Amino acid sequence: MTTIGNNIQLVRARMAQACERAGRPPASVALLAVSKTFGPEAVYAVAQAGQRAFGENYIQEAVEKMAAVRALPPLPAPALEWHCIGPIQSNKTRLVAEHFDWAHTVDRLKTAQRLSDQRPEHLPPLMVCIQVNVDGGATKSGVPPEEAVALARAVAQLPRLQLRGVMSIPDPAPDFEAQCALHRRVRAVFDAILAAGGAGLEAFDTLSLGMTADLEAAVQAGSTLVRVGSGIFGARSYAQAG
Ligand SMILES: *Cc1c(COP(=O)(O)O)cnc(C)c1O
Repeated sequence: MTTIGNNIQLVRARMAQACERAGRPPASVALLAVSKTFGPEAVYAVAQAGQRAFGENYIQEAVEKMAAVRALPPLPAPALEWHCIGPIQSNKTRLVAEHFDWAHTVDRLKTAQRLSDQRPEHLPPLMVCIQVNVDGGATKSGVPPEEAVALARAVAQLPRLQLRGVMSIPDPAPDFEAQCALHRRVRAVFDAILAAGGAGLEAFDTLSLGMTADLEAAVQAGSTLVRVGSGIFGARSYAQAG
């Protein structure tokens, strides 16, 4: 088996084991393959192993990569699904609205409004998550937990967005218990938004949480979508990042 095929199998085994330990069905956690800094051939190889959802941080790089993958021989259905997991500056909202299926990093109403306004009519609504900052200072991306419910309710009203859930990138923690404690704070925000209720929560089902180093703790805390980069593609070289 190829290295990438082997890596995916290992990641899926870790996810299954984490689900078992948490008493959750294995199908309750999905895998997002984070392909930032890797080229179209690497994405194609992972797609050939059956993976369909890909996460990208650098928007311009991602849009070029999407076109390059489309130029390769057709892959079996379903189509690839592209998730924006990097910061979205105002001058990049149009590219995100036009090219991505999901945006995980909405932390301001202004960004959400632009994404909704710019989402093309011929595409389905853009799936969005509210990014929450549970452990950083004011300089870290994400809305503070105490503002997340209000932001979620406002985003849920926007016509061309579908609010899907909450995303977070907690700081690295020294051990499993410390990771779980941080991840549970994100889960609490997810639960608070659901409990507050309101219109536009019909598809609110996603807790985007956990990366290569902490996916077990994220699954323990209730993650439904783990974002795994180096565990699948290998170590990143940022020299290539766009
Ligand atoms: C890079 C990145 C990941 C993947 O990180 P790994 O440690 O390589 O698994 C997940 N989420 C976000 C937001 C990222 O930027």
